[in-house]
Amino acid sequence: MNTNILISGAGIAGLTLAYWLQKFNFNPTLIEKRPNLKEEGFMIDFYGSGFDVAEKMHILEQLQAKHYPVSELKFVNSQGKTQSILSVENFRKMLDFRHFNFMRGDLETVLYETIKNTVPIQFNTSMVQMHTHNDKVEVEFPDSSSREYDLVIGTDGIHSQTRNILWGSESQFENFLGYYVACVITENFLEDKDAFYTYMKPKKQVTICSIRGNRLGTLFAFKSEKHDVRTHQQKLDLLSDVFDQMGWIVPKILAAMKRSPHLYFDAVSQIKLNPWYKDRVGLVGDACQCLTLLAGQGASMAMAGAYILATELFQAYGNYQVAFPAYQAQLQPEIEKRQIQAQKLASSFVPDNYFSIWITNLFIKFMFLPGFSSIFRQQIGAKSIIK
Ligand SMILES: Cc1cc2nc3c(=O)[nH]c(=O)nc-3n(C[C@H](O)[C@H](O)[C@H](O)COP(=O)(O)OP(=O)(O)OC[C@H]3O[C@@H](n4cnc5c(N)ncnc54)[C@H](O)[C@@H]3O)c2cc1C
Repeated sequence: MNTNILISGAGIAGLTLAYWLQKFNFNPTLIEKRPNLKEEGFMIDFYGSGFDVAEKMHILEQLQAKHYPVSELKFVNSQGKTQSILSVENFRKMLDFRHFNFMRGDLETVLYETIKNTVPIQFNTSMVQMHTHNDKVEVEFPDSSSREYDLVIGTDGIHSQTRNILWGSESQFENFLGYYVACVITENFLEDKDAFYTYMKPKKQVTICSIRGNRLGTLFAFKSEKHDVRTHQQKLDLLSDVFDQMGWIVPKILAAMKRSPHLYFDAVSQIKLNPWYKDRVGLVGDACQCLTLLAGQGASMAMAGAYILATELFQAYGNYQVAFPAYQAQLQPEIEKRQIQAQKLASSFVPDNYFSIWITNLFIKFMFLPGFSSIFRQQIGAKSIIK
């Protein structure tokens, strides 16, 4: 029944998939290239499909404990003066309070807790090669060992190694949208311990939020051509170049960033490939369906994908030839729609000029009025696809 399944990547999709596969009596094994799951990323809004999957996993209480009860997001100018206020309470109300704010790493921690005692997980490792056969997949590891699995599922994110090995180079599938995003965690040097601010200038924006442990999470987003930045230092240098003259408290954040070991930096890209599977190997999450880092639903849709694939495998008694296409048929039309919405959202997240910033501030003032809120709900992909 194809029970031995290797999952490559213990991120949001991989951990969710491991949970559902073991629940459906498969034998999943996880491998993860990071040494642990301690990186936190930035504050995410968690709602829609992911929320529904979390409810089915009975982890809403644990997620509630991680929730930051933020009351408002203030949009400020270069003097720190408030231009508009987004009521987080109204935002949550619009989502029927089926919404949490927490760090991406908080979600990962809660998901990990659900499987850590039942699913074998090996950190600090990665596949180096994979050979698909009629009845198995042979996987080679860096220590030259090799193991056989019935199926392999790549949940190794936007730069998926599983996809690279079997489908070829990322450039064939990457649609770079012309933005970069970076998340950094520093000490909180502000008086305001409940800070949640966004500051926009043409082609760039900075959002900061106070997080537990007297720390500050900062998200930088900027419009740019593609850069060849690889090392930590190159990323710091690029961020300093782009944001140095921005004013407000940004220079202070940049200085603190240089002392911080936590930096997540990536291009804002979408992944488009078809089909999402090849022989006994399938892909889930950003590896095949990336919406972008600015879409606000990457984690949620990754959980939805994992749940749908596990359910299809269960219903097909492990027959991947039935389950893989059924999973893709269910999810892909939604992903395509949301990829288009995410492209539009990216340009309002990082407005091009002062007029667009003015429009954004105006929209924030009216967004909870009936006509506007349904547009907004659609833009952020609030509708769940989970039955
Ligand atoms: C450290 C980190 C911080 C992030 N922070 C943010 C954020 O603040 N805001 C945001 O919107 N999105 C963030 N993202 C991306 C976001 O979490 C994903 O878009 C979303 O969760 C989709 O989930 P995924 O499981 O498909 O991919 P991811 O959550 O990216 O998970 C992929 C997993 O695969 C692992 N992996 C990668 N390559 C290999 C390999 N060769 N072998 C084994 N494992 C591998 C990665 O380490 C990771 O654990 C972050 C991702 C990571 C890894």
